[in-house]
Amino acid sequence: MSLFQCDRCGCLENTALTECSSDYMKIFIKESKELKEYKKELGLNENQEFGNYCSACCPLGERKWHGEFPRIFLPKGEFETAPNGNIRPKKILDEDVEKYALKIE
Ligand SMILES: [Zn+2]
Repeated sequence: MSLFQCDRCGCLENTALTECSSDYMKIFIKESKELKEYKKELGLNENQEFGNYCSACCPLGERKWHGEFPRIFLPKGEFETAPNGNIRPKKILDEDVEKYALKIE
């Protein structure tokens, strides 16, 4: 269980609260027709790999924010999962990420 940044909207998410972490997608979604549809919905072409997506962006499940914690939008593509499972900016490795939030809902 760890935190990650959604590859579509940039928000902070927990792997336990979405069905769209890339490991899950790789293991459980093998049927090619479904895969194609999910990729289309996520704006990926057929050759692109699935990233990690929050519960609101995930084409599986309810397609809405789970509400377990506030949805924190961070500058897209600038954060990574730290070895301890927290999230941090790629450049300065600071895990206190709320101060970087663009919006919190
Ligand atoms: Zn998202």
